[in-house]
Amino acid sequence: MTNDIWANVLGALKGTVGASNYSSWIAPLQFSKLSDGVAIFEVPTNFIGNYVSQNFGDQIIYQLKKAGGDVHRLRFRVPSQSVDASKGRTSAKPARDKGSSGPLDARFTFDTFVVGKPNELAHAAARRVAEGGPVTFNPLFLYGGVGLGKTHLMHAIAHELKQRSPELNVLYLSAEQFMYRFITALRERKMMDFKLLFRSVDILMVDDVQFIGGKDSTQEEFFHTFNALVDAGKQIIISADRAPGEIKDLEERIKSRLQCGLVVDLHPTDYELRLGILQSKVDVYSAQYPELEIADGVLEFLAHRISTNVRVLEGALTRLFAFASLVGREINLELTQDCLSDVLKASDRKVTVEEIQRKVSEHYNIRLSDMIGPKRVRNYARPRQIAMYLAKQMTSRSLPEIGRRFGGRDHTTVMHGVRRIEELMALDSQIADDLELLRRALQE
Ligand code: ADP
Ligand code: MG
Repeated sequence: MTNDIWANVLGALKGTVGASNYSSWIAPLQFSKLSDGVAIFEVPTNFIGNYVSQNFGDQIIYQLKKAGGDVHRLRFRVPSQSVDASKGRTSAKPARDKGSSGPLDARFTFDTFVVGKPNELAHAAARRVAEGGPVTFNPLFLYGGVGLGKTHLMHAIAHELKQRSPELNVLYLSAEQFMYRFITALRERKMMDFKLLFRSVDILMVDDVQFIGGKDSTQEEFFHTFNALVDAGKQIIISADRAPGEIKDLEERIKSRLQCGLVVDLHPTDYELRLGILQSKVDVYSAQYPELEIADGVLEFLAHRISTNVRVLEGALTRLFAFASLVGREINLELTQDCLSDVLKASDRKVTVEEIQRKVSEHYNIRLSDMIGPKRVRNYARPRQIAMYLAKQMTSRSLPEIGRRFGGRDHTTVMHGVRRIEELMALDSQIADDLELLRRALQE
């Protein structure tokens, strides 16, 4: 096949796709060569290549065959220097240029992500998106508290996609970087480039989107970018520290757009997950510090005591290994307590009266409103007293403060309740057991 055939085909295509499609999509194609039945074209951006392939691929093949070309497949590629730098349009192929995509942490892969109950849904959704294929939910919205693995999962998706489909243009960045680029583009009068860049990605990942709350023009641009990509059938993956509806100063229309895909949250870690994560990190450290021994019970202790977030947990372990290797001692409970006393103190769990009420009413299978409400029947009164007792023991609230949280009861009522439970504890082993169980559950 020669360029002549392609030139003829162009004429025919102009007739079948229409003038406007022709100039937007067909004219930019540069026929490169035919090899083994595959016609290769150079395109200015991956976006154009994908669009043409999806929308006009069959027609192009048909016309090429008709014109005598032995073609059964098309391939589109972005030449390494396709875009004329002097026109300032090098930014048209973002994810390939180093640094234009937020750098991905090589350690944040699916392999190193430990799955447990609190994150299994988020993990499954991330996996699904990372498989590529047809877009089933758009956007995927991941949210959860600090240090629960949102960024880790986002990077894992990006790594996986890049590995499976290197031709895809995957752009990962934080909402802050999005804003920074937007503002720079405005200042340097390069909004066209900005739009081109963001409209040409196949997969857009924006981390910590809560950041754009209250930043009006950035929100506006984000909204348009978002819509353009969704309309073009491109996958969008978003993370935030809270649910879309709860992001402060975020426009309603953006909230509702963010909600229309799949929204999944990462729950706070539980003991099992923390232990699992610690074990997997220890495997890594043990390779690094083969001389160090870790005594039984240390990981369990840490998983129990450090329940704030995974980042703190990891930091504790790093310090522990560094410290142990410096002093050349086994990592046992004593060393752990010496080395991490500040972390351990800081993460002493602060329990609230509300949590206590919730846990106790769950435990006794009564409604929260009945625990707090005025009814005096034994079925409600006893759990209420237990909750008062725990509130006195486990929080720093005063008796009047506790009373207020129990439907505005007087402090003497609280005091009476606390005393009653102290008496019962000595007499009724069932109550003592219940208390122990509840206390432990609350400290989790
Ligand atoms: P977020 O973005 O939600 O604030 P990150 O993704 O940055 O949290 O996670 C904080 C740290 O905890 C990272 O080092 C990450 O690798 C680690 N981490 C979080 N969850 C897990 C998990 N389930 N398995 C392994 N490491 C995890
Ligand atoms: Mg993060």
